[in-house]
Amino acid sequence: MLEAAVAPVSCRAQFDQLMVPCFAPHPVVPVRGSGSRLWDEVGRDYVDFIGGIATNALGHCHPRLQQALITQASQLWHSSNYFTNQPALRLARQLVDLTFADRVFFANSGAEANEAALKLARRYAQDHHGGGDKVQIIACLQAFHGRTFFTVSTGGQPQYADGFGPKPAAIDHVPLNDLEALRAQISSRTCAVIVEPIQGEGGVTPASHDYLEGVRSLCDQHQALLIFDEVQTGNGRTGDLFAYMGYGVVPDILTTAKGLGGGFPIGAMLASAQVAASFKPGTHGTTFGGNPLACAVASALLDEVSQPELLAGVRRREQLLREHLGRINSRFGLFAEVRGKGCLLGAVLADRWQGRARELLEAAVGEGVMVLMAGPNVLRLAPALNIPQDDIDDGMTRLERAIARLAG
Ligand SMILES: *Cc1c(COP(=O)(O)O)cnc(C)c1O
Repeated sequence: MLEAAVAPVSCRAQFDQLMVPCFAPHPVVPVRGSGSRLWDEVGRDYVDFIGGIATNALGHCHPRLQQALITQASQLWHSSNYFTNQPALRLARQLVDLTFADRVFFANSGAEANEAALKLARRYAQDHHGGGDKVQIIACLQAFHGRTFFTVSTGGQPQYADGFGPKPAAIDHVPLNDLEALRAQISSRTCAVIVEPIQGEGGVTPASHDYLEGVRSLCDQHQALLIFDEVQTGNGRTGDLFAYMGYGVVPDILTTAKGLGGGFPIGAMLASAQVAASFKPGTHGTTFGGNPLACAVASALLDEVSQPELLAGVRRREQLLREHLGRINSRFGLFAEVRGKGCLLGAVLADRWQGRARELLEAAVGEGVMVLMAGPNVLRLAPALNIPQDDIDDGMTRLERAIARLAG
């Protein structure tokens, strides 16, 4: 932090001069990454518990992904959706073979995958239930589904969708894990219910197993589609290839992004053949979705992440992370609870630490470890799925130092 502040013209100053002020980036500027370590402009190293916000599923510059990118970069970068391409077909085959889905639509981000899912659900209802009044979408409070206007209006944090004029209509919100609230909302007018199996941005809050089973059966009862937003929980993050597998509850549509590209932008919407059939040539589209570079990297990522040993390793890492957090907590008593699954954990701050997540995050960077927050009261960890034990140990030692500093 100090180093960056005395640099001639700091990157943060340049950022403020040049960029639309949507973000307020930390003064530390990472310039290089390898595995679960990052280095900044002055050569300081950081243990990375952020993983690019659950995107760098195999850490930075994983040799296998690097090779896939370089190989594809020397063959074909882009060919438009007037033509299909081999990497997209290979990746689609993997996703279909590995999941409930029969059909895949590629996009470039989580928001775009969700945008496609919500539009598909509306169109499917129109195709199959006529009349045009089966349009209601039910989502959860505190949910996060992206920043396009449809997805941000579907997300359960109205402050993100306010101030842009009339919102897309017929979207209602219910509290997560409250089946009675959903039962009261859902009806023959409902075309889809969208749920994150574990709310990521909203606080690392897992849906309960009973809740998701109940949601599935209410959807069936009212002929509404169930959409799982696995943008954050997918691709091995929870120790299952997709979180729905751990719950044993199968959606009609699943969206994913973040970890799928291992740091390269890509999103995907997965659906059954019956549901997918409501999109026809011209109904929906994208210029970059299915880009060969992105698909080649994602394909290599899935080859790795779908291995049972890798998924078992994610569950071992969860244990290790929880042990460290428990040990730190027994010294400082700052967590009320640690929740989440696999390499997506949220440490909920205890009463007397309320609202101090950002301060913790700053202190952590100062000690050489990067952690995330999920709201003002939750410290979020989303490290690479293959983070070495040494990096976990070292990162936790640094985090403990940061906490000790704040605890005074
Ligand atoms: C990050 C996220 C999104 C949005 O993804 P973008 O790639 O930022 O558009 C949507 N849903 C969930 C659950 C997410 O975590």
